[in-house]
Amino acid sequence: MTLINDFMSLIYPRRCEACGELMLRHEKYICSYCVISLPKSNYHKRPDNELYQTFWGRIPFMDALSFFVFEKSGRVQRILHNIKYQEQKELAFHLGKIYTQELLKDKFSLGYDMIVPIPLHKKKLKLRGYNQSEWFAMGIAEESKVEMNTEIMVRVNETSTQTKKKKYERWENVQGIFQVTKKEEVKGKHILLVDDVITTGATLEAAWTSFKDIEDVKISVASIAFAARGY
Ligand SMILES: [Zn+2]
Repeated sequence: MTLINDFMSLIYPRRCEACGELMLRHEKYICSYCVISLPKSNYHKRPDNELYQTFWGRIPFMDALSFFVFEKSGRVQRILHNIKYQEQKELAFHLGKIYTQELLKDKFSLGYDMIVPIPLHKKKLKLRGYNQSEWFAMGIAEESKVEMNTEIMVRVNETSTQTKKKKYERWENVQGIFQVTKKEEVKGKHILLVDDVITTGATLEAAWTSFKDIEDVKISVASIAFAARGY
């Protein structure tokens, strides 16, 4: 196997999905240098972090987590681009795994009952063939041993005419797009909502709206990157 790998890397040298440099044989998706030096948020060490503050006074999220903070024209942007447009869904899965390993190493409690990825717009799903948030969530689920559920929350309205609407209407429009299918199944549970990139928080607010009337439900959020200053 090692021989084949050596041979393959001679013919098809693999490049780091973050910095684009050639990788060593044992490296996977992201080179060792990037694994260490990418701009990690470390939000799990600061419960009242910038992401948490985005929802402050509006939504009582429990944990607000993100692997990275978004940096424009940097390595995080390249990672997100590769996940979204280069069919690198395994990269999202890999990131979910290494992020969870880091959280566990820091003794951060991942005591969630269920992991729920934000469903992708149907048209986008058809076009892309996969939901990148789901692949990231799958990596978290695998390492944390918490069940992932993709059926409990669905998209109801397709907001195809969204771009034609005014900003305020657009905000209103986003509010009713998610629905929890089996409310009794999440009663009293702690749910981790997972998205790829968080910008304004409007999507997560809409998702939270669909859970908020359920008895004793607790919601936390996690993303690959948080773009505090836009994406
Ligand atoms: Zn790299």
